[in-house]
Order: sequence, then C-alpha cells, then structure tokens
Amino acid sequence: MLSINNRELLDIPIKDFIISSEKVAHVQSGNNAEHALLVLTRTGYSSIPVLDVKYRLQGLLSSKMITESILGLERIEYERLSEIKVDTIMEKKIAYLRVTDTFKRALDLVINHAFLSVVDEEGTFVGIMTRRVILKQLKKYIYMNER
Ligand code: AMP
Repeated sequence: MLSINNRELLDIPIKDFIISSEKVAHVQSGNNAEHALLVLTRTGYSSIPVLDVKYRLQGLLSSKMITESILGLERIEYERLSEIKVDTIMEKKIAYLRVTDTFKRALDLVINHAFLSVVDEEGTFVGIMTRRVILKQLKKYIYMNER
C-alpha cells in the first residue's frame, strides 16, 4: 500500500508544470472559422484556447464546434467558414486554472478536461496544463514513494 503524505503532492503550486503561452497554439476571438479550422488541422489538436487581442482568455474552440456551425440540412456549407467569427461559436463557460492554484485543483479539473488554460491575476493567458503532464507528475510521485 502507498504510504505517502498526499498533501505533499496536492499542495504543490502548478507553476512549474505549465506549458507556456509561446508554445501553445491559439486563435483570437475576432478570427474567422476558416482560419481557426486551418490552425486546428495544422496543429492536430482537437481544441485550443481563444484569446482576445490583449491575450486575455475568452474561451475554447474545437473542430466539432466549427463543423456544427456549418452543418446544413443536406450538406456541410464550407463556403460559410469565412463569414463565421470564432467568438460566435466558441465555448465561453470554461474551466480554467490560476497560476497560483495547486496541483489538487488541477487534478480535480483534468478528470473532465484534456487540458486547462492558465491565467494570471489579470486574466491574461499564461499557458496550459494538460492531463498528460498531470498524470506524468502523479506517476512520478507514486513511483518515488513506493520505494
Ligand atoms: P496532450 O496531453 O499533449 O495530448 O494534449 C491534450 C490537449 O491539450 C490537446 O488535444 C490540445 O487540445 C491541448 N494542447 C496540448 N498541447 C497544446 C499546444 N501546444 N497548443 C495548443 N493546445 C495544446
């Protein structure tokens, strides 16, 4: 059985595990859906953060949201992609982390989300924390304490 002081891990600040904003693909709320689809397809990610011009977190956009927005009765209306703005189709109510949050909050939230955006005190986007990174840390910690 694992005999570790759980708090040791749970209280760690998330700061060190953030994938910083320069490395994160994003779209701007004013971009059109055609540009967004291009970014999503090129990067291969199924969803990415949406930011405003001041780099503040606005929401999340997935390829599914784009496809649904151009779904006609009998066909997919690709020609409408350039007219649709990202902020009209993105998910606005999203779970996110603050830089000052602990590992515990991240762990609670990644159960339902593959990644979480991280913002600073002013709501400026600083990066993301992924389920993969959290699981890696958890595994490392469990293995370390098993010995
Ligand atoms: P991963 O854990 O690397 O499979 O990433 C899980 C999800 O996090 C991806 O499907 C993306 O939605 C998002 N993600 C991971 N890395 C990036 C990145 N560099 N830029 C944008 N989104 C990312």
